[in-house]
Amino acid sequence: MKPIVAANWKMNFTIDESLNLIDEIIKRSPSVEAEIIFFPNYISLQSVKQKLVDTAYMVGSQNVHHDESGAFTGEVSASMLSILDLDYVIIGHSERRQYFNESDDQVNQKIKRALDVNIKPVVCIGETIDERKSGKTTEVLNRQLNKAFEEIDVLSANKIIVAYEPVWAIGTGVSADENQVLEAHALIKQTLVSIFSENIPILYGGSVNASNAFELINLNNVDGFLIGGASLKSESFCQIIENVTVENN
Ligand code: PEP
Repeated sequence: MKPIVAANWKMNFTIDESLNLIDEIIKRSPSVEAEIIFFPNYISLQSVKQKLVDTAYMVGSQNVHHDESGAFTGEVSASMLSILDLDYVIIGHSERRQYFNESDDQVNQKIKRALDVNIKPVVCIGETIDERKSGKTTEVLNRQLNKAFEEIDVLSANKIIVAYEPVWAIGTGVSADENQVLEAHALIKQTLVSIFSENIPILYGGSVNASNAFELINLNNVDGFLIGGASLKSESFCQIIENVTVENN
């Protein structure tokens, strides 16, 4: 399986800026042995998807609403996203859980909505620093996973990606260390196999950069990265891609 390198651009970039960044990335890394996924903001999605149609680059939304339609001012449904022929959607990012009070139950519903319209969910889970310090990491990760995938058909397993993103490592410049990543990914893998009887790709996210990408990608059960800050510049993003693919050369 190719390593997966996903760029979460969050609330950054105009349409033109998004398209320019993609141009720069393609120029720097014209052919890559990785699956690259771009997650632009809603406004840029259509233009980015159009630009990358018939290429190997994938495009996804950063969010989706958990209901099919209705009176939810400002929200976007899975069927609306499906018109753009998107490949992926990020679900349950810690910023959504933290700032928009997204619950495990809503995460579960969002996954169902996405799968209904054939968009693959990238499901984010991760513990806060308080949860880690009080020894609750295992409990939190298992709760998030079991709830996220409640009543999800096992046949959907091949459409799902999980991202382990410890909340304390996101945007802080402090990545989880190798042992923490190894331990969390082994636990997540075990829980996912118990739910789906299948291997589901597990990404790591949280202050991945050009300096730590090589060590992290070579850890057991790390199938790629979800990257925020370092995906906003072509130089750092392409250096990560290089470090992730070097083992395959
Ligand atoms: C993220 O927001 O998913 C993320 C991992 O951010 P950063 O790489 O900036 O820590």
